[in-house]
Amino acid sequence: MYGWNGLFLNVNLSKKKAVANRYSESFAKTFLGGRGFAIKILWDRLKPEIDPLSPKNILVFAAGPLTGFALPSSSKLVVAAKSPLTGGYGDGNVGSHAAVQMRKAGYDAVIVEDKAKEPIVLLVQDENVEFLDAKDLWGLNSFETEKKLREMYGNAAGILCIGQGGENLVKFANIVSQEGRAGGRPGIGAVMGSKNLKAVIFLGSGELSAAYPKEMKEQGAEAYREVLTKPNYVFWKRQGTMSTIEWSQENNVLPTYNYCEGTFEKADAIGGFAMEKMKVSNRGCPHCNMTCGNVVKGSDRKESELDYENVAMLGSNIGLGNLKQVAALNRIADEFGLDTISLGNVLAFAMEASEKGIIKEKIVWGKFKDTKALIEDIAYRRGLGYLLAEGVRYVAEKIGRDSQRWAMHIKGLEISAYDCHAAPAMALSYATSSIGAHHKDAWVISWEVKVGRQSYEEEKVDKVIELQRIRGGVFESLTVCRLPWVELGFELERYTRFLYAATGLEMTWNDLNLIADRIFNLIRAFWVREYGRKWGKEMDIPPARWFENPLTKGSQKGAKLDRAKYDVMLKRYYKKRGWDERGIPTKTTLKKLGLENAVKQLKKRVKLYD
Ligand code: SF4
Repeated sequence: MYGWNGLFLNVNLSKKKAVANRYSESFAKTFLGGRGFAIKILWDRLKPEIDPLSPKNILVFAAGPLTGFALPSSSKLVVAAKSPLTGGYGDGNVGSHAAVQMRKAGYDAVIVEDKAKEPIVLLVQDENVEFLDAKDLWGLNSFETEKKLREMYGNAAGILCIGQGGENLVKFANIVSQEGRAGGRPGIGAVMGSKNLKAVIFLGSGELSAAYPKEMKEQGAEAYREVLTKPNYVFWKRQGTMSTIEWSQENNVLPTYNYCEGTFEKADAIGGFAMEKMKVSNRGCPHCNMTCGNVVKGSDRKESELDYENVAMLGSNIGLGNLKQVAALNRIADEFGLDTISLGNVLAFAMEASEKGIIKEKIVWGKFKDTKALIEDIAYRRGLGYLLAEGVRYVAEKIGRDSQRWAMHIKGLEISAYDCHAAPAMALSYATSSIGAHHKDAWVISWEVKVGRQSYEEEKVDKVIELQRIRGGVFESLTVCRLPWVELGFELERYTRFLYAATGLEMTWNDLNLIADRIFNLIRAFWVREYGRKWGKEMDIPPARWFENPLTKGSQKGAKLDRAKYDVMLKRYYKKRGWDERGIPTKTTLKKLGLENAVKQLKKRVKLYD
């Protein structure tokens, strides 16, 4: 096999045992890598309804066949498990030396089972696997942890770790690497914490083997050169995703005051140009020459890596218009290992609940010091922080008083940073995303703004599905970054050429889209298997706020989603996906994709297909 290593490492933490096993080329061709491998492993090995924070959950680190080669933006891996936040499939990707080193150590995925008795660090150095005592690291934040491990294992080591958020089982704790590269927002860091696993270190000395090494080298060099010649390259390096603040403000989609509005009165102060004045350097993932992490110094004088999502969620959405302070909040979130999107959402929810008098604590919009203290309380699960650490769906259910209507989540995952009062396709994208309301699978909003905001027509459904295939299916499974394609206009055929050089397989985008559909449907089957008879169309409906409370400001003033039209759009989406009226893949759809086992299991579990 070329491209893929063909090896998984199975780790049992309680037995302190690690066993490598070969997988077949047909498995690789069927599920590609990254997200595809992760869902197949979780589907096969997890029993339905296990407690995600119990030793029965499985934590997967998985990469794709391009990861680690000298190709632009190709050094990511997927971290996945059953999510403690949503109860469904959860994953995220991290751009990190850990991805490269894991592959060089010889593994395409590391599968972690059970729970260590005491805090440990897992060291994977080629075929040598060690379980190191981590009692001294437990309680440290993610930056301190990585620093200590780097002192011992050197700069070449690829390190993934958790902060106090993961240790204290905050349901939206993530996994952090290289001081601010983070992934696994549906609580994958909490799963790691529940296993007493403080960090994983990868060190690999092997070489990846490409089917056509010369072609691979040429393709990579040409692609790196192409990045530099793109017209928007220079501006991208200056601002990365931060210019989206100004774009969102102009287009009335900047989440503001818990998604009440799409414009923020202090947007200029937190936008891309404001950031440029503070910027000290660029940081990014390995193998990337369009690095997008904007490093600034926050009000605490510490470095913080800013991008659109973390600034919108810890800025406009909580009413904070001071970028240095936003940077300081972002820094502590990364230190604690808390997902900034969910965190900004949870904080805004608490501020609104306080304003409405539903909770007794006084938490005021945009108050930096109080917000910082509340983030600490969440990370350590103290006071109100204990409740907020559960995520907005749970908090709203707990405090009631109709707060579910403005608890901004879908399937339990807090919505990322695009307001959808006037963006039905983006709302559909969030609603049908693989992990809950995340933008990664189908960032359709920039296209939607161009083609017209009010339409609920078929072309919108088609676009969401097209993007879900390319981004959520193929890029997440090749584990390459989508941004060269999205932002610099790389042609998609580049990736089939990369794949050919790496694996020797001539796959077309039609072949890849079919794999993407297989992955997407297996993920949906996973959700249905978990939720059983509780599963229904309501799982794919955005929060009531977007349907009920129109925007009061900006170019889209008066806009809100139309529920009847949304329902028609969703029905059309289900039909095109080959799903029934509850959003469950039909027997025919699953069989067509070679997922007969899913038919069997769903039949048993939810008495389907009788
Ligand atoms: S563009 Fe940004 S996210 Fe993508 S690989 Fe480069 S640094 Fe990482």
